[in-house]
Amino acid sequence: MASGKTTVGRELANRLGWRLFDTGIMYRAATWQAQRRGVHLDEEETVTELIRDSEFTLLPAASGESVELDVYVDGDNATPHLRDTAVESGVPTVAAIAGVRTLMVEIQQAQAAEGCMVVVGRDIGTVVLPDAPVKIFLDASQEVRARRRAAEQQNGADEASVLRATQRRDARDSGRRTSPLVVAADAVFLDTSELSLDQSVDAAEAIIRERMPELVDGIARSAGIATSEEG
Ligand code: C5P
Repeated sequence: MASGKTTVGRELANRLGWRLFDTGIMYRAATWQAQRRGVHLDEEETVTELIRDSEFTLLPAASGESVELDVYVDGDNATPHLRDTAVESGVPTVAAIAGVRTLMVEIQQAQAAEGCMVVVGRDIGTVVLPDAPVKIFLDASQEVRARRRAAEQQNGADEASVLRATQRRDARDSGRRTSPLVVAADAVFLDTSELSLDQSVDAAEAIIRERMPELVDGIARSAGIATSEEG
């Protein structure tokens, strides 16, 4: 699932007129907070305490066009820092801390209750939103994901090293004791290895429209009304 899920989720949210909530930003923001406060990421209790005492706020992205959310920590916008190398390498450590996960999941559940949204993350269908009306498990081969990630990073990272990093992170995410990466029993499995972005989004959209036709139409209508009011 890796990088494809955010891209597919973003495009899907655009099409449906929903918001995208990529839960990876929460773990990244928590990592950024621990690092800027000088807390050692291996000190689980200290990290958990810091995160408990920090205020996380999710707000529609500053660039009005975007369907995404920005994450603020203690009033500071963490969003520009979430792809920093230090955050990138520290995040699996922070995400493996049970106390941090409990706090993050609570925030995610409250956010998801705000309305229709595409919620993206490894444990959404199993832990965060076990009653979600539609669950889609996106998968792609590690090679395809490494290629996508290398292209996304645009920092000259070569595919082979991105592939190694992807494999390392996958192993850490799926091997951890707390909330390892598992597929929800009632999720629809979608392998995007051989699909273009458009085809992946088409497939995901078809699954949603089939499973919740009234809701999708209802949302489309209310989005239409909102647009005409603005105009
Ligand atoms: O999806 P993204 O690459 O932004 O996620 C960054 C890291 O956050 C993952 O490697 C994983 O350790 C953690 N994560 C998680 N549970 C989620 C979302 C992200 O553990 N729901």
